[in-house]
Amino acid sequence: MKKRITAPREVLHELQQDYYICTKCKLCQGVHVQYCPESRFWRNCPSGTRYRWEPYYASGKMEIARGLHVNELEPSDSMRDILYTCMLCSSCQEQCYEVKQLHPTRVFELMREKAVREGWGPMPEHAPLVESLEANDNPFGMDKSKRGDWAKGLALKSLPKESAEVLFYAGDAYSSDPALLHAVRAAAQVLLEAGLDVGILGAEEKSDGALMLMLGDRDFFETYAYDNVETFNSLGVKLIVTPDTHAAWVFKEEYADLLDPGIKIMHISQLLSRLLKKNVLTPQKEVAMKVVYHDPCKLGRRFDIYEAPRRVLRAIPGLELLEFPRSTFNSLCCGGGGGARYAFPDYALWTAKERLFEAEWTGAEAIVTTCPYCVQMLGQAVEATGSKMKVFDLAEVLLASLGKEV
Ligand code: SF4
Ligand code: SF4
Repeated sequence: MKKRITAPREVLHELQQDYYICTKCKLCQGVHVQYCPESRFWRNCPSGTRYRWEPYYASGKMEIARGLHVNELEPSDSMRDILYTCMLCSSCQEQCYEVKQLHPTRVFELMREKAVREGWGPMPEHAPLVESLEANDNPFGMDKSKRGDWAKGLALKSLPKESAEVLFYAGDAYSSDPALLHAVRAAAQVLLEAGLDVGILGAEEKSDGALMLMLGDRDFFETYAYDNVETFNSLGVKLIVTPDTHAAWVFKEEYADLLDPGIKIMHISQLLSRLLKKNVLTPQKEVAMKVVYHDPCKLGRRFDIYEAPRRVLRAIPGLELLEFPRSTFNSLCCGGGGGARYAFPDYALWTAKERLFEAEWTGAEAIVTTCPYCVQMLGQAVEATGSKMKVFDLAEVLLASLGKEV
């Protein structure tokens, strides 16, 4: 039997102080209003705002956690729906932690792990994702032999046959969604423009397991984590860089302690910002566009990476950078968080449309972000509404400013 990749993790009852202390003050329903200029945008919990019933807000789910703990409540279908409509966006935790040092989002993650352990989670609609992972090492139905096809024609090294200093990990979404092909190729191409020694695993690349962790299946996640850590440690690379925000999250939070000490992990926005600072990349071509930057939840609230992508955008000549009323730690989820979109697509799209409305309110011509799931969801909202808003991945805009095309 494989050893566990992570130390035995906390379980729900270890956070009982959190759900017992929750005073139902409801601070977690909104943003830090002093940093949000427009009251139209003060609410910030997607599930509570959409379903308008207490259990869908963090305060209600904290009470469910308490009720389960003392056997006042039994798991039910509606309880499962409530738990899996949560986007795990951490907006509630952002509010609550500052005032009360509680961790509502962490409680909801552990409630999902409890639901999976006890057999009442995840949602039945998540089954095809799990089946695809079992068959293809990718949750989105792509044949594993095609995982590296996105890189055809790019001068990337092929690991492990060749050696390289940098592993570019494309991730599940970028390697399988044709709509993201331009973005992932742009990301790799910018690194090549910078003269970095970059390799990919191609068809040998496996899922990072992040989706399984979000759905609460830690055991399944750990099988991927174990295999990936073993592979990464065998490659002799010094840096793993990924444009996939969810991959960056699990690499940093879950894999990092098991990786060889010489291996660094970076999200691509951090690396691009660094390359610009060192003048390794010098954008010269004007990109005359008013853009608003959307903070992915896992990059921003989870890792405090707010400045790096903005520094990249500010370095681009001709580009005007605007801000959402709900920006940085106040940012609204795109609708793609927590795996909710696969079970509740209408609600996920409703959330993405809300974000699109906010982008239009700023007067921007385009939304720029740096997460494949945000690009997908915001793109869906544009398509559903017929909006003229464009949606770009950060690397696409930077590559254009270098005068290069994919
Ligand atoms: S989770 Fe925190 S902010 Fe939300 S109601 Fe409970 S104590 Fe208040
Ligand atoms: S994590 Fe996000 S969606 Fe879930 S309860 Fe908190 S604010 Fe609402």
